[in-house]
Amino acid sequence: MMRPKFLLLFLITLLGLCACQVSSGDITLAPTETASLSSLSVPDIATPTSAHLNASPPHTRPALKQASALQATLVPTEADPLRFVFPTQVPQAASAWRPPLYPTPWVPTPYDHFFFARPIAADEINWPLANYRYGGVFWANVVHTGIDIPVKTGTPVNAAAGGRVNWAGYGLLRGIDDPDDPYGLAVVIRHDFGYQGQTLYTVYGHLSRIDVSEGQHVESGDILGLSGATGHVTGPHLHFEVRIGKNNFSKSRNPELWLSPPQGWGVLAGRLLDFTGRFLPSKSVLILSSDSGRKWTVKSYGKGSVNSDDYYRENLVIGDLPAGNYSIWIPRETSKHLDIQILPGRVSYFTYRQGLGFNVELPPTPYVGFMPPSLLEITPSP
Ligand SMILES: [Zn+2]
Repeated sequence: MMRPKFLLLFLITLLGLCACQVSSGDITLAPTETASLSSLSVPDIATPTSAHLNASPPHTRPALKQASALQATLVPTEADPLRFVFPTQVPQAASAWRPPLYPTPWVPTPYDHFFFARPIAADEINWPLANYRYGGVFWANVVHTGIDIPVKTGTPVNAAAGGRVNWAGYGLLRGIDDPDDPYGLAVVIRHDFGYQGQTLYTVYGHLSRIDVSEGQHVESGDILGLSGATGHVTGPHLHFEVRIGKNNFSKSRNPELWLSPPQGWGVLAGRLLDFTGRFLPSKSVLILSSDSGRKWTVKSYGKGSVNSDDYYRENLVIGDLPAGNYSIWIPRETSKHLDIQILPGRVSYFTYRQGLGFNVELPPTPYVGFMPPSLLEITPSP
């Protein structure tokens, strides 16, 4: 039982959980500005974590200022093998092209579990917004328990895998009908398969329309509704969560370890620790591609309601990295760096510990009784 005082604190913390501070500038553009929209999707490819995005507080940056800053990053540079170049102006869908995903479930090692397809189709923006990853901190103390996919209102939202609709409507946070719920109009699917003997749920928040009803069975790719900006948001996007064991935000895991990567691309997971072996929270890490020179910035999880993977026990994940050679730097922490390879369709892993430096050894089996999932295990529903 939770004491009333704790419960109150809990609920206050929750208010922003799903606030998903996507700047409205990312998507809400007046019709005359729609040309910028296709540009906006490109920098994520050209400069995936653009310094421009980090330059100003994310909640306040003005839309047009951001758009023009991003457009500035589009000035072509020297031949870059990873920059997608098209002969003529193309609509957003084509400019945002990424390789197709690995077929789900994608289980490259016994410890991986890319069980889910992306909830947004490949011809739309279907990757997480760099500054609103899992474990990111909003305001002072609100930690993000999902990822935000910056799609415009009205984009079809697809079931990430088969299952039964467990929730459809307003009020997900407290489980009661509540038009002020931070998740807005939301759908939850209880999947037909589990993990480590536990039920798996996926959450789709801030929808503008719901096309399914509770109890309905859906298959992977079925349309659940349309994306929108309901709930606590500053702009339209899809908030997506993966929950294990219980349909509660406190049971969330990093969706970037569950969503199938684009073919030929990989995922980096890391564990940043202090001298005593405790997590270093909200630490900025720079990831530099030795092949293309492109760089990404990603932060370790903030303190709060986020959980690490049973096996990786990570506090940092960045997906959608083209396979190749990279170096990892932790500015203002160490002058040393780690050279690491991102392998296609795989999770690359590192640990940094104060006093001990970098290490690329894989984690040990997490606990007695941990059973690596097999494809067979993916079928039954717990
Ligand atoms: Zn969110």
